[in-house]
Amino acid sequence: MKRMVNIAVICAVLSLAAGCSRGDGKQWYRGNTHTHSLWSDGDATPEEVGDWYHSNGYHFLVMTEHDRIARGERWVTVGDRGRISNERLEELRARFGRDWVVTRIRDDRLEMKLKTLEEVKSFFEEPGAFLYIDGEEISDRAEGKPLHFNVLNVAELIPTQGGDTIMENVERNLAAVNEQAERLGRPMIVHINHTNWRWALTPEQLAGMRGTHLFEIYNGSTGCNNYGDETRPGMDEVWDIALTRRLSSGDAGLLYGLAVDDTHNYYSFTPDVSHPGRGWIEVRAVDLTVKNILEAITAGDFYSSTGVELEEVSCTRSRYRVRVAVEEGVTHTIQFIGTRMEDGVVMETGVILQETTGDVATYRFDGDELYVRARVVSSKLQEHPAAGEEAPEYAWTQPVIPGRK
Ligand SMILES: [Zn+2]
Ligand SMILES: [Zn+2]
Repeated sequence: MKRMVNIAVICAVLSLAAGCSRGDGKQWYRGNTHTHSLWSDGDATPEEVGDWYHSNGYHFLVMTEHDRIARGERWVTVGDRGRISNERLEELRARFGRDWVVTRIRDDRLEMKLKTLEEVKSFFEEPGAFLYIDGEEISDRAEGKPLHFNVLNVAELIPTQGGDTIMENVERNLAAVNEQAERLGRPMIVHINHTNWRWALTPEQLAGMRGTHLFEIYNGSTGCNNYGDETRPGMDEVWDIALTRRLSSGDAGLLYGLAVDDTHNYYSFTPDVSHPGRGWIEVRAVDLTVKNILEAITAGDFYSSTGVELEEVSCTRSRYRVRVAVEEGVTHTIQFIGTRMEDGVVMETGVILQETTGDVATYRFDGDELYVRARVVSSKLQEHPAAGEEAPEYAWTQPVIPGRK
């Protein structure tokens, strides 16, 4: 993993557009909003999961089990055909103490009790250093496609809402999240997951979804088709198509992109498994609290990364600036991407408006852009990509509407 993030050096005078940063001493906080453990289909205990993120430079973590929150009592089988091996049980005892591990014999099988979210929170959380945000992955399906949504800061489990068509299903699930947030007066957000996994959602469908403005621009689990195939667009193109539609003809507004791990496997760092550390977000917030992290994500005050670290992402009414953390022997290309409108007509979707080789670039708005976002491409390849996804390290900043208050 790369070194810890720096304090942002931001000197923007005024923030006018969504997603822009201003010079107010905020700090970057690294987090992963998509993680599984033995509570669903991950292969490690929640404390091993927490241990990995806690010791690899992350500041916050969202455990997002399939249709489940890690509460109450849950046991897993131990041994050769169990979900956890005897060797690993011993490793847990060595790492966390003999009293930490609770076992029982049930039907002649050895079982281990899984730690709850509250238990791992009290072990790893530290004010200003490491934070958990309660989460859930609603894992629904319609028209034969998997439709998954990550709920951040969920209070009560949200069961899958069903729905005959894809659009109806998505709307019902997003509405259930928003209903809980409103009813409890609680800050909650929801992002749409891995839209290219089993080609679940088209960019046009993504464009039409009003219940959220967050989706995964990169998902590090295997088979997510982040870069498309011969006939179907990769996530960058998906984003541009959806943004262009949302801003030119719909009323759904901006769409922000998160990079996530969607971790399932913690014991092998090979391309064929979904291990941690492939994709994350860096959120700019005044402090490491659930409220401020969620507010910053909602406002688009974050960037996504598969390896590139940024020091500054800032906007004024007239320009968008990106500054990359210098890495010895590594070259960065900073691309500003957007779609232009001419006489009320949408021009080519998602073109590179400006490209700069170097560690800082400023784009001056022409005024005819529907939106502008930036992507940084490294000369270095991603160290541990998922199978078939060999690609450079990237950073993606959030789209802004030039001059918008
Ligand atoms: Zn999923
Ligand atoms: Zn998942």
